This record gives sequence, C-alpha cells and structure tokens, in this order.
Amino acid sequence: MIAKRLRRSLDTSICIRDIFEEGKKLADVYGKENIFNFTIGNPSVEPPAIVNEAIKEILDTEDPTSLHGYPANVGHPDVRAHIAEYLNKTYGCNYDENGIIMTVGAAAAIVVIANALLDQGDEVVTFAPYFWEYKSYVESLYGKLVPALCNMETLQPDPVTFEAALSPRTRFVIINTPNNPTGAVYTEESIIAVTDILKRKQEEYGHPIYLVSDEPYRKLAYDIEVPYLTHYYQNTIVVYSYSKALSIPGERIGYLAMEPCVQDMRDLYAGMTASMRYLGYVNAPSLQQKMLLKCVDASVDINIYKKTRDILYQGLVDIGYTCIHPDGAFYLFMKALEPDDFQFCKEAKKEKILMAPGAAFSGPGWVRISYCVPDEVAARSLPAFRRLYERYQNQ
Ligand code: PLP
Repeated sequence: MIAKRLRRSLDTSICIRDIFEEGKKLADVYGKENIFNFTIGNPSVEPPAIVNEAIKEILDTEDPTSLHGYPANVGHPDVRAHIAEYLNKTYGCNYDENGIIMTVGAAAAIVVIANALLDQGDEVVTFAPYFWEYKSYVESLYGKLVPALCNMETLQPDPVTFEAALSPRTRFVIINTPNNPTGAVYTEESIIAVTDILKRKQEEYGHPIYLVSDEPYRKLAYDIEVPYLTHYYQNTIVVYSYSKALSIPGERIGYLAMEPCVQDMRDLYAGMTASMRYLGYVNAPSLQQKMLLKCVDASVDINIYKKTRDILYQGLVDIGYTCIHPDGAFYLFMKALEPDDFQFCKEAKKEKILMAPGAAFSGPGWVRISYCVPDEVAARSLPAFRRLYERYQNQ
C-alpha cells in the first residue's frame, strides 16, 4: 500500500503522459500519419553533432577510473569553473565555481533548492499557468505551492495577483521564462514589476525571498531577448538544463547557479550540497558533465521549432482560434472553444488531435499544444483543427 500523501497526489494529478500514450494506441489503429499528438514536450529536433563528438572524445581520452568514479556531489571543479566563466562572459555576471552545482536536470535542481529552503508548511509562489510538476516537487518536501494567476490576455505575470500570493511564509518564488505551458517570454517590464514587489516584501518580512529562475527553455527564444534575472534581483538562483537546449532530456544534466551576493549563499550552498546526497541524486552524471566542457554554449537548430510555431500559430489564428503569440519554448497556449477544456480535448480527439488540457497547468479554459513535431505534421493538422472549429460554430 503506498503512502496516503502520494495516493492523494496521484488521484488528483492529470496525467498528460496518459493522453500521450493513448495517442500512440490511436496511431496503431489509424496510422501514425493520421494522429496529431501535441501532448508532451519531448524534443523533436536532433541534438547538435558536437554532443556525440564530445562524448566520443572524452571516452577516448579521459582516464576511465576518474571519469566513471564518484565526482564531488556538486560536480567536477573544471566543469563548474567553465560554466561560471561562460555565464560571466555571456550575461555579464559574477559567478565562480563555488556558486555552481551540477544537477540531474532542472527538475533535481528545483527539488534540491526546495529541500534546502523549506520547512513544513513553508510556501513557494509561482506564476500560473505553470509546469505541473512544481506542485509535486514542493509538496513532496511538505511545502505549499501558491499559484499567482498571470494576466490571461497577455500571459504575463500580474503584479496584483503576485503580491496577494506572497506571505511571511514565502521562502522562494519560481519564475519560468520562456514558459511551459504558455510559450510566453516574460518582458523586462514584467520582470521589473515582479522584482520590485519582491524587494519591498523582503524588507517588510525581514527575511530573504529567493527568486528561482527555472530556465530550461532559455535557448529556445525566437527573435526576442530573455532578460537575465540576476541583473534585476540580488537573491536570484538560476536553474538551467540542457534537456531542451541540446535535446538530451534522457541524459539528465543541468546546474543551479548563485552569485556570491545571494544572501546566506555559503549556507545555502552547503544545504544544497547535502541535499544532493540526502535526496539520493548524489551527483549529476559524470560523463555528461564533462561533455559540457565542449558544448556549454551549443544549441539545437531553433529555426526548426520556429518554422513549426509559425505554421501552427498562423494557421490556428486564420481559422479563428484565440492564441497568444508564443515567443519561446515549444508550446502554444490556445483558448478552448468551450469553458470545459477537458471536454474540448475530448472533442478534439474525435478529429485525432491530442492536446493537454489547460487545467493541468492551472490554466482552465485553455489547452497546451506542444509543437515539438515535424512541421509537415503541424501543417497536416490544420484541416482537422478547422473541422473542430466548424463543429463548434455549427452547434
Ligand atoms: N521546468 C520546466 C518548466 C520544464 O518544462 C521541465 C521539463 O519539461 C523541467 C523543469 C524539468 O526539466 P529537466 O529535464 O531539465 O529536469
């Protein structure tokens, strides 16, 4: 019998992977080319060639005993120094290797931060719609996730709901831009509004509120600047992952980064290092860490995603759907044609279109279209979207 706490969370979770699996079954029945599966965010673009080249070179040249042995919990020192140098050069920051921890992707980085910061009942605020796993990350560590609904006309943070969500129990805020599930890139104006509120609230409460910038999609931004948050707020902890930037989510590699100016930074670093062990991660995969010595600034060809985004966005808007132009990640948030987004997804399935209901991300009344699919699939889905639209118009 599993724990009651976990049972409750399993019963209330809306499993997007189940919809994805259902799509695979439908593909067996109707043919893969006839199913438009826009459910999960598994990168569809090949990793850049340098990833495999780097791994081969490391395997051929590094001493296998040290390569495959346990590195420090925080990661190889040369890799951490290399990442710090890259970030300083690229974003004009002030990192050093003692502020970097190599992690098992962004997921583990957030969990490690939560473990280091949360006591029972402490709160974590995030902007809704949000990546649904945040709730499990925080609640598994006995914290409480408090969503602050974005302005649903713009999908940008709303300063009013944000300020109302903060309380003396708020230990950190998770911000995710480019955003999953909406594809929104938060503007500099939004970032300034959010960080001004945080600065004021830190003063009022008399303790730090950390801003955790979860940025696995930073490299997937289309002709738009993604503000680097350390320039706006001192107590920022950056979480980065190579899952999407290099299309290697199965390899589980990322990092968290703190500048020396972060309040209680040495204490936090020690707490996070211990958390790597206590939570059973121990260390990020050694080979993948070393790969970064050669690929730290590499990226997939984002023009491929951009082309698919353009086909879908324009096609859907032309049909009559309401979508907010997505500037990053590989997600498009579209208004459902009825208030019940689950029912809308069911109706869409009749046209062989599979999407994730917005309610799964605290964005009811909307759906998430994950467009990491070949562009020809996106183009071929448009007549099905049109039939769905017309069905609603004719009701
Ligand atoms: N944060 C967001 C917003 C995500 O969308 C994801 C994965 O989809 C993660 C974190 C976890 O990514 P990783 O594979 O780096 O653990």
